[in-house]
Amino acid sequence: MQEHNANAEVQDAHAEAQDAHRQAQGAHALVLDAQKLLKRYYGYDEFREGQKEIIGSVLQGRDTIGIMPTGGGKSICYQIPALLGERLTLVISPLISLMKDQVDALASLGIAATFINSTLQTAQVRERMKRAEQGEYKLLYVAPERLEAESFLRFIDTLHPALVAIDEAHCLSQWGHDFRPSYRSIAPLLAGLSRRPIVSAFTATATSEVLEDIVQLLHLRDPHVCITGFDRENLTFSVVHGQPKRDFVLRYLDNHPHDAGIIYAATRKEVDSLYELLRQKGQSVGRYHAGLGDDERKDSQEQFLYDETRVMVATNAFGMGIDKSNIRFVIHHNMPKNVESYYQEAGRAGRDGDPGECFLLFSPQDIQLQKFLIDQTVSSTDRKSTEYKKLQSMVDYCHTTQCLRAFILRYFGETAPERCDNCGNCDDSFELLDITITAQQIFSCVHRVRERYGITLVTAVLRGSKDRRVLRLGLDRLPTYGLLKGRPEKEITGYMQTLIADGYLKVTEGQYPVVQLQQKAVSVLKGEARVFVKVLPETKTETPDDALFEQLRLLRRDIARAHNVPPYVIFPDSTLRELALKRPLDRLAMLAVKGVGEVKFEKYGPPFLRVFQERAARAEK
Ligand code: ADP
Repeated sequence: MQEHNANAEVQDAHAEAQDAHRQAQGAHALVLDAQKLLKRYYGYDEFREGQKEIIGSVLQGRDTIGIMPTGGGKSICYQIPALLGERLTLVISPLISLMKDQVDALASLGIAATFINSTLQTAQVRERMKRAEQGEYKLLYVAPERLEAESFLRFIDTLHPALVAIDEAHCLSQWGHDFRPSYRSIAPLLAGLSRRPIVSAFTATATSEVLEDIVQLLHLRDPHVCITGFDRENLTFSVVHGQPKRDFVLRYLDNHPHDAGIIYAATRKEVDSLYELLRQKGQSVGRYHAGLGDDERKDSQEQFLYDETRVMVATNAFGMGIDKSNIRFVIHHNMPKNVESYYQEAGRAGRDGDPGECFLLFSPQDIQLQKFLIDQTVSSTDRKSTEYKKLQSMVDYCHTTQCLRAFILRYFGETAPERCDNCGNCDDSFELLDITITAQQIFSCVHRVRERYGITLVTAVLRGSKDRRVLRLGLDRLPTYGLLKGRPEKEITGYMQTLIADGYLKVTEGQYPVVQLQQKAVSVLKGEARVFVKVLPETKTETPDDALFEQLRLLRRDIARAHNVPPYVIFPDSTLRELALKRPLDRLAMLAVKGVGEVKFEKYGPPFLRVFQERAARAEK
């Protein structure tokens, strides 16, 4: 045993000397080596943005933080230095279930790596530890939980790792979207090692709080921070409002029968029911959430990774570290809790650089659900308020009429051109709708309630609701009471969210946010500026409420019979669809619908108007 230790010491000294020699060779030569390895092992000709800089910094012996978007190519940033060095690289990664895939992937490239985690038998662990001590591996992957055992720390120390790479390093931070207490055992590990390794940390979360936490909690020494551009040019972002989500999903899958994609839903229950629906419709689909057994989760993930199932319906438990590069779409069936999570999840599309589509299907209930989840899971008041603020940015994203890509990039502190010409909002097939008058009515109501209430109450006042709170507060005596009578609640709150997102209104932070006017709204109130929103033309992706469409279709059939003409002569389907979407309540509004001319309106319009008026009256009650 003693002899073995002495041998190990000699080997170590030799390895260190080699590493020191390499560092002395100068960064330039090393980076050239790195480039060769990139080609040799990975088959890539060029480094992606940031990779060369990060690798160069690590090779110079500096602690390094790499912040790159999902799919940016972080793994190579520690794998190549691992290949270039003589001593081991320890990789700390949060997801046990993925370690095997990562190690298998490395094995397929001819890189000696292994993992040690709780999925192994004791004998297997021992075997791997022994082989690690013999210097057989370039990379050793471990989960942070392992570091909680004193004996394991001592074992790591005997390996004298040259580099410790911390993947998904935002898990360290309470401010990140995925805090893991076990990540806090990394600092004691680093402090306890007899030879301090170079430390590198990688994440896709770029907020300054997270960055500060990484530097401080890991006690990094003068780290080099490399933040690459966050733009993923090959991804198209769109937010879809006001249409039945399941119809959208089914139609999208039918229209893209060969593409692989992920559909994220907010709860396990929703995942299960969407999964069942898709299965019944004959889609090739799997599911993944934390409520399933380990085996089912593993099988499901594998089938998806190996293209045996095409669509994965999952909660956000799925995907971290998934290296399936041919994901062509990511549909968020529900709005996530913040932009960080959204961008990370949506970013799983198009890792191979080919086009990927990212849709967020918004409904106002999603906001309530996320608020509820924050209330349930976050106890500190400070953190709660941070989470609410982040949620508000997510809601703003869903309602902005500006370029969605620019919104995201600015959120992460980058500058961005006004338009990207590759997102739902830059898409010119959108129609501009002038909502100046409605906006003025909303602003004036906000003013009349003295900026003291939230969206729901302002909406209730505008709709002339007999809600108890409205009456108790005497808000029914305001001149703005009932100004938008007959308009659906969803439409008014939707407009308010857009006006917030576009900076006309502001909601205060906290659990009971109130709506306030911003300077931009004052110009609109004075009649100096107009307000436009973009709406999807009905031919694009919007579909009306099916039941209403059916009702209109039957009405058209009856009218057609009475006039003894075929139904399409009355109105074409596209007009019925737009009618079902816009639900006009008066002549002018109905004339604004494509396919409704004055003569046609006089002939056939009134019975249609009655349908909408009756619905509005019913909704009122
Ligand atoms: P991240 O961890 O940042 O999300 P990965 O390290 O998993 O990203 O890399 C994403 C994909 O990009 C992988 O398929 C990887 O092989 C590929 N990739 C990484 N670097 C390059 C490169 N320089 N050229 C081409 N593809 C690359």
